[in-house]
Amino acid sequence: MIHLKDADGIASIKAAGRILRAALNAAGQAAEIGVSTNDLDEIVRSVIENAGARPAFKGYQGFPGNSCISVNEAVVHGIPSDSVLADGDIVSIDIGVFKSGYYADACETFTVGTVSENVLHLLDVTKTSLAKGIEQFKVGNRLGDISHAVQVYAEAHGFSVVRDLVGHGIGRALHEDPQVPNFGPPGMGPLLRPGMVLAIEPMINEGTDEVRTLADDWTVVTADGKASAHFEHTVALTDEGPVILTI
Ligand code: MG
Repeated sequence: MIHLKDADGIASIKAAGRILRAALNAAGQAAEIGVSTNDLDEIVRSVIENAGARPAFKGYQGFPGNSCISVNEAVVHGIPSDSVLADGDIVSIDIGVFKSGYYADACETFTVGTVSENVLHLLDVTKTSLAKGIEQFKVGNRLGDISHAVQVYAEAHGFSVVRDLVGHGIGRALHEDPQVPNFGPPGMGPLLRPGMVLAIEPMINEGTDEVRTLADDWTVVTADGKASAHFEHTVALTDEGPVILTI
C-alpha cells in the first residue's frame, strides 16, 4: 500500500534531507587518497547526530555502519572499515537520516584522485539517468515511466542496469511501497499521484548487470569485478511536479 504524504510530512522528510545533504557533502569532500571508509562514516555520524537526527542505517537489520560505503566494484551495502581509499577509486556513500518520525535516503558516487575516462563516464551517465527518472515523476505518468527512462538512458550509453536491487517509497518507514525498479516497460505500474515520496536510485554497472553478495552478508559487488555507480535522491511529487528533498 502506497502512503501519500501531506505537506507537513513532506516538510519533515525535507528537514531530514537537509541534514543528509550536509553529511553527504562533508563525507564526499573528505573522500581522498589515504582516507579510510571508517573515517568517512564517522563524518556522516557526527554531522547527523550534531543536527539532532539519527543515522537510519545504523543497526538496520543489524547493519554495523552509520552509512553504506561501497568502493569500486561494490554496488551497495558496503560496510565502513579501516581500508583506505586509493588513487583512481570511486566511492558510493549512501546515507539514511531519521528525524522527527520521518526518513530521507540519498547516495552519491565520488571520485578519488584520477579516475579512468570510462568510469568518469559511468558516473556522469548514472547521475543523468537519475535526473531522467525524476523528470518522469509527474502526475498522470505511471511508475514504469520512471523505470524506463533510467534504463533507456543508461543502456544507450553502453552501461548495464542492476536488476536485483531497486528503489522504494519512503516516509515514516525507510522502505515503503512501491518498489521502484530502474528498468522495465513504460506505462506500467501504479499511477503517480501528488503526495507520493520515492527514493529513486539507479545502480549502473560498467560491465555485467549481475551482482553477488560477499561473505560479510552485506556487500553487494558486480559479478565481473568492474565498477558500479549509484546516485539516489528522495523525491516528493507535488501539484507543481517533482521536488527533490535531498538536494
Ligand atoms: Mg534507498
